[in-house]
Order: sequence, then C-alpha cells, then structure tokens
Amino acid sequence: MSDGTGSPLGLAAELTITVDGAAGDHDGEFGVIDPATGRVFAMAPETTAEALDTAVTAADRVFRTEWRTGEESRRAVLGAIADTLMASAGELAGVLSSEQGKSRADALDEVAVAARYARYYAENPAEREAAGPVAVITPWSFPLSIAFASIAPALRSGSTVVWKPSPHTPLSALLAGELLRSVLPPGVLNVVSGSDPLGARLVAHPLVREIGFTGSTAIGSKVAALAAGKRLTLDLSGNDPVLLLDDADPGRAAERVFAAAFRNLGQVCVGPKRVYVPASLRQPFVEALTELARAAGSGGLAPIGTRAQFDRVADLVADARAHQAVVTACAGKPDSLGYFHGRTILADVTDGVRVVDEDQFGPVLPVITYHDIDDAVQRANVSSYRPGASVFATDPDRALAVAGRLEAGTIWLGTHGTHPPEDPAPVR
Ligand code: NAD
Repeated sequence: MSDGTGSPLGLAAELTITVDGAAGDHDGEFGVIDPATGRVFAMAPETTAEALDTAVTAADRVFRTEWRTGEESRRAVLGAIADTLMASAGELAGVLSSEQGKSRADALDEVAVAARYARYYAENPAEREAAGPVAVITPWSFPLSIAFASIAPALRSGSTVVWKPSPHTPLSALLAGELLRSVLPPGVLNVVSGSDPLGARLVAHPLVREIGFTGSTAIGSKVAALAAGKRLTLDLSGNDPVLLLDDADPGRAAERVFAAAFRNLGQVCVGPKRVYVPASLRQPFVEALTELARAAGSGGLAPIGTRAQFDRVADLVADARAHQAVVTACAGKPDSLGYFHGRTILADVTDGVRVVDEDQFGPVLPVITYHDIDDAVQRANVSSYRPGASVFATDPDRALAVAGRLEAGTIWLGTHGTHPPEDPAPVR
C-alpha cells in the first residue's frame, strides 16, 4: 500500500469498487486530495452506469435469498465485519487520515467506532423491517463511522446495501469493501465510488427501496425529491445551541464546550455550534475558551476536510468580523499549503449573523451574550437544524427546567455529547 513516497497510496487507482462480491468496472478516475497538502495524492474509480446497475441488481437478488430470513447468519456476518475492520484498523486508519485529514489517532478511533456499530448490531436487533436494497450515501466528515451507523442496522434487519461514499473520501470505503468481500455473501454490501451524480442515479434506481443519506441539507432536499415512494432517512446539518445559566461554572463549562465544539475540528452534525452566555459570565467564559484555544495551539491541528469547506469557514469568520464580532483566539494556523484553520473563538456575535444562523461545520465557535433567559431560549429554538442542545448550570432543577423548553433531538446537561450505538438516537 505504499508507493515509496510516504503517501499511503500511489497515484493510480489501486482500490476497486465492490460489485456483487468482486471488483466492478469503472469508467475513468477522479483525484483524491490530501487536505494537509491541497494536492491530489491518489485516484479513485468513477463507477459506470452498468456497474451501478449490476450492484443494485445483485443487492436485490441476494435480498430475496436466505439472507433475508437467516437472522443467525446475519448476526455472524456482522460479528465478522467488526473483526475484519479491527484486524485492518491500521491500514484503514492510514488511508482515512490521508484522504480526510484527521490524525492517525482520530482515524483509529473512527475505525473502532465503525466496528462498534457492527458489533452492536451483531448482538442487538435493529428495530425495523427489512426493506430491500438500501442506498447508503455518506459525507466526508466521518467516512467510516457514519457509514457503518447505517450499514450495520440495515444488514441486521435483512436488507442489503449499496454504499456510495463522498467523492472527497472514497478510499477508506473502497478499502473496507475489498476487505469485507471475504466475510460477506456476494451482493450484500456493494461499494461504488464516483462524483455526485452517481448518488442521484443510485437514489433514483427503481430497485432501491430505502435511502440512508447523511450530508448537507441542500443535497438532502434533492435526495428527498428523487426518493418519492421509498423509505428515506435524512441526517442533515446541525446548528446545536448551548445555554449557560447564570449559576454555571464558566471554567468547567468552557472546558466541556471547547472539547465538544472542536472534536473533528467542528466538522460534526451534533456539536456545539453557538453558545448563549449570560452577560454576567461573558468575560470569564470567553477568557477560559480563549485560553483553551491558545493552549491547544497548533498541536495536533488537522486540516479542514475540503477546500470548499475551508473557504466557507474563512468567509463566515470574515462576515462575523464585519458584523462587529471580536476574534479572541485564532490559534494554531500553521503556514502551509493545506486547509489549516486555527481554532477560532468569536465573542459578541449576534443572532442574524451567518456564523450563528448557519451550520459553520468547522473550527469556529460563536459566543452570543444574552440578558434575559426567556429571550435566549427563544433564540436557541429559532434554527431549523437542532439535532442536539445543552444546558450548563450548577442547580440541576434550573437546568432541567430550561432543558424542557428547548426543542432538539437530544438535550444534554453539563456536557454536549455524541450518540453511541446503544442510544435511542432519533434516527438510525
Ligand atoms: P454533501 O451533502 O455535499 O454530500 C453528501 C453525499 O451526498 C456525498 O456522498 C455526495 O457525493 C452525495 N450527493 C451529492 N449530490 C447528490 C445528489 N444529487 N443525490 C444523491 N447524492 C448526492 O455533504 P458533504 O459536504 O459530504 O458533508 C458535509 C455536510 O454533511 C454538512 O452539511 C454536515 O452538516 C452534514 N453532516 C451531517 C451529519 C449527520 O449525521 N446529520 C453528519 C456529518 C455531516
């Protein structure tokens, strides 16, 4: 897997799509960029229309076999998927780190989370009926863990899968597809790479019965329009609010909010995206956040996943500055060709500014000062993208009372967490 230049893959497309248990046909290739350098470091196959059709047809064929009825063998297969991913964790993490930009340690964690989803559904039922071939369409932020959060329950239920990864991060998916050929019946899990129109063709394919889409709200709307009559799950953008009450410990809250907000450089759907802080705590809270950003410096700073996202984050910061936001920290921006952007704290931002109203999906955290808790709750509830929310307070009764007025999928007290597989997540 090395071309001797230090890059894990040579430029030629070595990895193949997986169609009906074997390498499928492709028509040309597209470049995959290393976000740390901004340069193409590998090529990936562009799946042909015929290969896509063969993949979906195979998924439909195997769905109609004992795959659908053989629950015990499906459990065994899911266990084997978990074992296989973990046995190749180092190789998968290397590819994932190169194409996505995250550190090797974070990439290893992500492989472990993907395996954990497979293990969980080997041991626990998926609370849904088998549908038939499921199109799993995934973004570049967590190329493996998000995919297996959909693939594992689909397989456990007796469905079969055609997985189309993001064109920014196709390599870890292609490698997983190759590794899993030896443990899956042909046709159960097909992996096809290609540019965006491939996703639209997959969604519209008449044999696809269900779509599990994770990505932007804009593309999700297009997918919904194409998916009429099919079962559809859309995991889209997030703009989670955090509320500090006036009895919160600003230092403790800052530590937890900072850790959650800058996990995966803020490229997460469920994470703190805007913090409402009472005027009495504005100074100590912003100072504590700023200190944490400075202390983190450039140590372990990963690049943003794509050029478009890097440009968007820079635009949002410039727009916030033009609207009187104060940049208290923009730490750790190395002088590099890659898409590096320091962890940025923006104080004194207001609702109505883009970085507050939109999902920044990057290493920027706006802090909004409030004077009246009822007003803050009302503003926290304004955005239409709220998979999560959190409340920080010392008095648990006050925290609970405010949490009960927030409208979000999951509401945390004193932390802003993630969804492990065993959580009753809103969708899966
Ligand atoms: P994106 O919407 O651009 O792409 C997501 C996937 O959809 C990719 O595989 C892409 O090739 C495919 N696609 C593009 N056009 C399509 C079409 N017309 N039909 C079918 N598929 C199509 O998202 P992205 O830039 O890869 O990821 C970042 C976005 O994902 C952010 O907006 C973020 O909020 C969101 N996200 C959501 C979650 C969640 O669980 N809710 C998790 C991570 C990221």
